[in-house]
Amino acid sequence: MAPTLPGRAWGTKLPPGSVTRAPAILDRASWGDPMHTGSAFDFRTDAISTPSVGQLAAISRATLNDDVFGEDQTTTLFERRLADVCGQQAGAFVISGTMANQLALGALCQYAPYAVLADASAHVVNFEAGGLAHLSGATVQPVHPSNGIHLTVEDVKRHARVASDVPFEVCLTKIISLENTAHGNVIPLQDLRAIKDWAGKHGIMVHIDGARIWEAVASGAAGTLAEIASCADTMTLSFAKGIGAPIGAMVVGTAEVIRRVKRLRQSIGGGVRKAGLLAAAAHEAVLENFGPGDVDSRGILRASHFMAEAVATMWTTRGGKLTRPTETNMAWLDLTSARISPKALNDNGLLKGVLIAAPRIVLHHQICPEALASLEQVFDNVLVDKDNVVETSHHSLPSKGCV
Ligand SMILES: *Cc1c(COP(=O)(O)O)cnc(C)c1O
Repeated sequence: MAPTLPGRAWGTKLPPGSVTRAPAILDRASWGDPMHTGSAFDFRTDAISTPSVGQLAAISRATLNDDVFGEDQTTTLFERRLADVCGQQAGAFVISGTMANQLALGALCQYAPYAVLADASAHVVNFEAGGLAHLSGATVQPVHPSNGIHLTVEDVKRHARVASDVPFEVCLTKIISLENTAHGNVIPLQDLRAIKDWAGKHGIMVHIDGARIWEAVASGAAGTLAEIASCADTMTLSFAKGIGAPIGAMVVGTAEVIRRVKRLRQSIGGGVRKAGLLAAAAHEAVLENFGPGDVDSRGILRASHFMAEAVATMWTTRGGKLTRPTETNMAWLDLTSARISPKALNDNGLLKGVLIAAPRIVLHHQICPEALASLEQVFDNVLVDKDNVVETSHHSLPSKGCV
């Protein structure tokens, strides 16, 4: 049976006594109303955060010119501003983080039979529908980080295939693709610099998937946007995760690479006409939730990091363990040692009116205090008062692919 998306209908599928206040399938616009959109009760992913009234107002001020012709001021200004804060020559606005990764990697590969070395758990490896093979003719070299958290220069040295070291039958590594944050963990700037230095000496390029780069910068442990981007040939930034825009991402890099990105973007139908509508909302989302500069000046993302720490503490004080350190907006619960199935945790969440995609709890600025209190009751149910654990036989939640 296909999983049913949370909506009004799911109340009918829940065990008796379930709370059904959570997400409604919306029949009216709910700009700036996370209680109504349901994002206030949704811990599955920060991509669930919904746009603000300020974004709607920004859309109404957007220019309505053609961005395929390169004439739309709202879009061009946004590309210029972000390229500048990242210390890069140029930027290209695209409609999704996936498209941003694929175009950036494609622009670096230039359709040669190369390998892209990436963390085995990376988005480009697992959740981009084979785009690297399909769009760039590249193969993926998945590597498990030896520290269990993120790739380091040691991993790269061990696994990269460099022309001078390997026979011609072997596919050479052309790009190292890194995520920052990687599953909520920050790659320290000195690690990024070491990777970039080593890669540069071996003719290998570096791509940074910055779907959650805002979180990395806001943590204070990763460097500024410009410092991080200086370790990459291409970097992406996404506006539709914790920043809360409806749609959008950006690739930044040299003018030459961004020209290639825009040509590829057009080749897959990703050039859009009145892009200003999307760029305006995304730009406003950045200003509201991160600020105009290359460091976080709003403290909103930091607040979600404190919530993540509180969630981690709620879990560990009840005897639970974590599988990763909590550094930004995610807490990773060790369900194996707690002897509880992901489905049981998700179902107990539904019972209390919160959505969970176990084993990851994702915080974002729209989570409300009531949702945190409900989550605490869920932890009580599954860790303290185990008799209360509910597990239903139906599939009520999409728990895969929440990225
Ligand atoms: C979500 C995500 C993406 C893709 O962004 P979409 O806008 O959903 O296409 C890419 N990389 C990482 C690490 C992500 O978490």
